Amino acid sequence: MTRSIPTEATVVIIGGGVIGASIAFHLAQSGVEGVVLLERDELACGSTCKAAGGVRASFSNAANIEIGLRGLEIYSQFGQLYGQEIDFHRDGYLYLLSDPTDVEVFTESVALQNAHGVPSRMVDPEEAKRISPLIETGGMLAACWSPGDGKATPESVVMGYAAAARRHGATIIRNCAVIDIASTNGTITEVITEHGRITTHQVVCAAGAWSREIGDMLGVHIPVTPMRRQIAFTEPLAELPDHSPSLTIDFPSNFYFHPEGKGLLLGWSDPDETEGFNLRFELEDWLLGLGEIAAIRAPAILDYGISTGWAGLYEITPDRNQILDRSNDIDGLLIATGYSGHGFLMGPASGEIIRDLYHGITPRYDITDFRLDRFSDVALAAGETNIV
Ligand SMILES: Cc1cc2nc3c(=O)[nH]c(=O)nc-3n(C[C@H](O)[C@H](O)[C@H](O)COP(=O)(O)OP(=O)(O)OC[C@H]3O[C@@H](n4cnc5c(N)ncnc54)[C@H](O)[C@@H]3O)c2cc1C
Repeated sequence: MTRSIPTEATVVIIGGGVIGASIAFHLAQSGVEGVVLLERDELACGSTCKAAGGVRASFSNAANIEIGLRGLEIYSQFGQLYGQEIDFHRDGYLYLLSDPTDVEVFTESVALQNAHGVPSRMVDPEEAKRISPLIETGGMLAACWSPGDGKATPESVVMGYAAAARRHGATIIRNCAVIDIASTNGTITEVITEHGRITTHQVVCAAGAWSREIGDMLGVHIPVTPMRRQIAFTEPLAELPDHSPSLTIDFPSNFYFHPEGKGLLLGWSDPDETEGFNLRFELEDWLLGLGEIAAIRAPAILDYGISTGWAGLYEITPDRNQILDRSNDIDGLLIATGYSGHGFLMGPASGEIIRDLYHGITPRYDITDFRLDRFSDVALAAGETNIV
């Protein structure tokens, strides 16, 4: 069924996840009239609603630390700012380390984080167990404790930003897929949707794992690869510890857990997972792999069955860092994507950055490392990645 949609827009944002919703709000709030957000399904239905909700400033580079701090600051007062409760809790992130190289890297990262005001510190295995009572410490060398980190509910953030964007005059259209983007002489002229054409000269790609397709519409290579990541929930535990971090992460395996209701949310990045849009929730091999790690790190978990779970997509770039940039090749194309597993916490700062790029203002964050053209750089060829 064809629906009526605006025929003109000052700027069209493609994607109604946390990134698109935040950008719509920040642009509309800054006075841009004619902001239109297009989401082909329902708001937050992509990777955002699949996220574990972790919000942290415990990163290994200065720009991400600042971006993470902004996420924590905004999410901690989201209810007052936007009238939408997001269940923000600041119970800390605990990274469990059993490789001497990781201990060195985390020790350096903690120094950098402290210099930016993040109250993280290295702790010994005994203290780690006091912080996260479900863990076993065999083989562990140390842990990194970042008590200021937390978690919140991703869909609520999207609803809050979308409502605030509407209050500032933005138009949010659901169930409307972008099928092409037209340009003339390197300038965007039209966004073509399943429900009609919108004349515009500005487009923001906030299409998450699907961003490469959006870039292809304009002949711009956006190197974002979809990769399935699964989460499972246990049955209620007989006894939940009276305190537990927002996230406990076994760093070498990337197995993580946090309390969710009366049970636990469990996550794990299966190293055998292959690229693609596979969204099937498949427990068998995944649970076997997760079980092997849990047997060492948190064996108490194995006493409980899995009640439910889901599969979502990480939107991965070659260096596991996001792209926040204006295209050099196509006039009017802004890009905010490729968060590689930490996009939820980056929603607030990403909205501010794209708003500033739109207005030609230098953002307050150093976004040099998030340029699109870095993927032709020598550093990347040498395999430099975002470790923490
Ligand atoms: C299992 C899992 C756990 C995670 N845990 C965390 C966490 O703890 N903390 C954290 O910070 N991050 C986490 N993430 C990552 C986080 O979910 C993502 O980085 C973030 O949600 C990306 O937001 P987005 O708005 O860019 O993408 P999305 O939420 O995927 O939004 C993109 C939207 O674009 C729409 N779209 C695509 N193509 C078109 C088109 N042609 N026309 C119109 N609309 C289109 C899609 O339908 C989608 O809704 C996790 C991810 C997964 C899968």
